Amino acid sequence: MGRADFRCIECNEPATELHRDYRNGILKITLCGSCQKPVDKYIEYDPVIILIDAILCKTQAFRHILFNTSLDIHWKLCAFCVLCEAYLRWSLLHSSEPSGHPADIIRYTKEWEFYGMVALASLELSAFCGGVLCFLWAVPGRHRGHHVRLLLRALLLSCYGKALLVPAVIWEHDFSPLCLGLIKLFVLTSNSQAVRVILNCRRRLALVAVGVGLLSEMLAARASQRLAWSIQDTEAMFD
Ligand SMILES: [Zn+2]
Repeated sequence: MGRADFRCIECNEPATELHRDYRNGILKITLCGSCQKPVDKYIEYDPVIILIDAILCKTQAFRHILFNTSLDIHWKLCAFCVLCEAYLRWSLLHSSEPSGHPADIIRYTKEWEFYGMVALASLELSAFCGGVLCFLWAVPGRHRGHHVRLLLRALLLSCYGKALLVPAVIWEHDFSPLCLGLIKLFVLTSNSQAVRVILNCRRRLALVAVGVGLLSEMLAARASQRLAWSIQDTEAMFD
């Protein structure tokens, strides 16, 4: 790899390489000049073990993924999560209705409702990321000049827990609000750990930033609900 912006996963010091190739087939893991531990032990590990450590929110695993890999799936992951969330909400919207009616024309309106849910889920995710980034930008200190692109990638990647919504989509009726709440909590925990790792800041600042993001997400959801109601009212007036 021709990059020089690696980080030691133990002490967060910059490193120029993760391993050295001695040309005779011998690869040696580079030791950190600051803490004398391997710069990134995870380059030898199985991806499943890295994933388990990431699920456990280990700082080292987050540093490995966010600084020492060029994992470039955040936009695809983001689209996947938005679609899952939209489908789950859309199916919850109709789960209370009696099914089996020969009213197939209604399906077209239901399809539009699904697009509406996709738009709503995208809006909420944008509001969340926007809220976190604006808050971190407004906080005085060393966080201010940090790369927005790096933070955004970290936030989107750390939303991977939303993939747990897939089982919720498959077994939609067996899924309780408690499970959905736990998924949300897990995603928010990962988000705050990602912010903490990127900025190398205190846990409290990362938690507050994620809290601000959640607040702006809720405000966006409320505002779009109000807008939908007022559109329905206007339509009802003209009918
Ligand atoms: Zn180190």
